[in-house]
Amino acid sequence: MPAWAVKIGLQVAQDPEKALKFLFFGIMIIIVLFMLLTLPFFLLFIPAAEPEQYNDYRNAALRIASESGDQLINWQEMIALDAFLLKQDFSKSNPTHIYSYFKEAFIWSEDVKIEVACVPPKKHFICTRTETVYHKRSLDEVMSRLNLSTEDKESVRNYLALNLDDLDDNSEVDGPIDIPPGNFTPVINQFTWPCDVYRVTSGFGTRIDPITGLQGALHGGIDIGTPMGTEVRATAGGVVSFSGYTETGGYMVTVNHQNGYVTRYLHLSVMLVNVGDKVRQNDAIALSGNTGSRTTGPHLHYEIHENGVKKNPLLFYK
Ligand SMILES: [Zn+2]
Repeated sequence: MPAWAVKIGLQVAQDPEKALKFLFFGIMIIIVLFMLLTLPFFLLFIPAAEPEQYNDYRNAALRIASESGDQLINWQEMIALDAFLLKQDFSKSNPTHIYSYFKEAFIWSEDVKIEVACVPPKKHFICTRTETVYHKRSLDEVMSRLNLSTEDKESVRNYLALNLDDLDDNSEVDGPIDIPPGNFTPVINQFTWPCDVYRVTSGFGTRIDPITGLQGALHGGIDIGTPMGTEVRATAGGVVSFSGYTETGGYMVTVNHQNGYVTRYLHLSVMLVNVGDKVRQNDAIALSGNTGSRTTGPHLHYEIHENGVKKNPLLFYK
């Protein structure tokens, strides 16, 4: 038996209470040291994917959008789902998995008949053609289809709340956003919402161009998924500075608010105002449509210009 063990043995025999105290503090110190050493591991484990991997998710979203009628999946929702499904082990993730898994999970399609102008034009007749229309499921729908429990759904939402945009500046691609009706207020210059539909199907910024398929074209406004004939209203008072047809934007109305702000409304079916008309906020100025060469389905493309620069309209609402 070594000398130190004999020493401890003698002390325990002499003063058992003191020895117990030593033992207790010894164990406490080991526990505290263990916690301090493992804490950084737990802290580092929380942010899900590596920032370089964000691009795998963004690129998958863009590729899926280019094949699915411009239905852009929110890449942060994909990361949040994968954080849960892969138990945060993003080494198991790869571009092929991301693309095929989330295309299947989020996108569905159907063949529908749509009304188009007859070629050659026939008065009083409407022609139809069949088209594949793509739809995107919401995150909630996807989670329900995966049979996630309430707690599991909650942890996916917790990952989503990490807001990866804060960690990463290359974040110009937005997924569709549902704005609860009436549940937003204009924050700058008192712009109101242009119609009674609050579904933003395509955000402002760089994305895959739905017509050319090229990446990088600036989408200078937001697309609101309006059915044909939805009433479009001036989002602030001003003077109509354009009301007419443009090749790419179709029937378009521009309102000059004379304080450095201009709003534009594209792809309209019917225009209710002429150049020079004074309009008040919320006056009906047009009906939405699907006109112009750069549209893949009925929607309202809405722009806000500030001193000649296109701004993200959603920045003006909260
Ligand atoms: Zn648009």
